Amino acid sequence: MSGSEASREWFQRATRCIPGGVSSPVRAFRAVGGDPIVFAEGSGPELTDVDGRRFLDFVGSWGPLILGHAHPEVVEAVCDASRHGTTFGAPCRAEIELAELVVDSYPGIEAVRFVSSGTEATMSAIRLARGVTGRDRIIKFAGCYHGHSDHLLVAAGSGLTTFGQPDSAGVPANFASLTQVLDLDDEDSLEVTFSREGDQIAAVIVEPMPANHGLLIQRREFLESLREQTQKHGALLIFDEVISGFRLGPDGAAGRYEITPDLVTFGKVIGGGLPVGAFAGRRDLMDVLAPDGPVYQAGTLSGNPVAMAAGLATLRILEASDGWRQLERLGQALEARLRPLLDAATMPVQLVRQGSVFWLCTQGGPAPRSPRQFDSNGADRYRQVFHSLLERNIYLAPSAFEVGFLSLAHQERHLDELAAALEEALVEADQNV
Ligand SMILES: *Cc1c(COP(=O)(O)O)cnc(C)c1O
Repeated sequence: MSGSEASREWFQRATRCIPGGVSSPVRAFRAVGGDPIVFAEGSGPELTDVDGRRFLDFVGSWGPLILGHAHPEVVEAVCDASRHGTTFGAPCRAEIELAELVVDSYPGIEAVRFVSSGTEATMSAIRLARGVTGRDRIIKFAGCYHGHSDHLLVAAGSGLTTFGQPDSAGVPANFASLTQVLDLDDEDSLEVTFSREGDQIAAVIVEPMPANHGLLIQRREFLESLREQTQKHGALLIFDEVISGFRLGPDGAAGRYEITPDLVTFGKVIGGGLPVGAFAGRRDLMDVLAPDGPVYQAGTLSGNPVAMAAGLATLRILEASDGWRQLERLGQALEARLRPLLDAATMPVQLVRQGSVFWLCTQGGPAPRSPRQFDSNGADRYRQVFHSLLERNIYLAPSAFEVGFLSLAHQERHLDELAAALEEALVEADQNV
């Protein structure tokens, strides 16, 4: 149903030599059924599979492709950098220029270190926070994803236990016990936790715009309480802006909410489609990193000239074209097109959006701010809509809880295409009820 002939054959080959046939589990379509599509090409807003079938893409490689696929200037920057050497294992100009751009863009940060993924960025930020504070415990929130390092693959403990439980086999319970998982949108449990154990907590890490388990837009008061409690108890506040950083704007969610964290992590957009992550903060905190300080962190390919060139080109194009404002307008246009037909559908479904990030939320009522508010039938409804859209050559994320991304390559006519396909998909879903 999902893949055409050649795609299906390639995926069969993949399953013989790659676990689940994929290099990252959510790509496997397990949440929606069917086989993943094997792609051959991306161009602007479109993906083409190995059978030559074209799809209008709203996944954008899960966030990085804010300019769309293979933007000519980014491709040129990558080619040009490659011709001069793909990695030096030593400082390069693009790395310094990108660092200056990041420091100038984001509130309250004075230094940045580059890594090669969002996972590395959050893992390193946590280590730095522990090194700075001399404390071991951290707080995270259910519904936020911070990559797959041991201390962050943790789920809430059951009942009254304050200790987190491993959220993956292979994560030692002892590691998980240092991470406490609280609910989003709940200032009270945060305050209670800090009043009990505030002197042991190194950091609170949060996606200020949680976008990995649906798009759970937070109240400003909640984020404000994180700032207040961490400050009061000598813990650090880490904003994980791997999705929202340079996606909502150059100053990320911090700018949007006017709340400045102590440390921030970046990924996705900052690498322009190449593997880049970064973590950043005030000078006094970042100087605790090796070689100046005692917190060790390193990377063979960190800050390599090709990846830095892709990130730098992407951010410069966004700046020069007033890209973030254009994306906001595009987001509004999407909302204007989809809202009437979602309202008219029999299926409970709504659009949740912040900037160029959107979530087709297949439940009614107010938009959820925490996974506690999820309707258990939402994923089933999404599965139907997903496959109907895929048949109409619209590629959304193969999971009810993943968001969609607009890029500067999307134009209003692409939104029309999505709206037309979605209208049909919703009618089809009604007939299947
Ligand atoms: C994607 C993501 C990560 C992990 O980044 P990878 O590059 O996949 O390791 C961490 N935090 C957030 C908020 C993310 O969206």
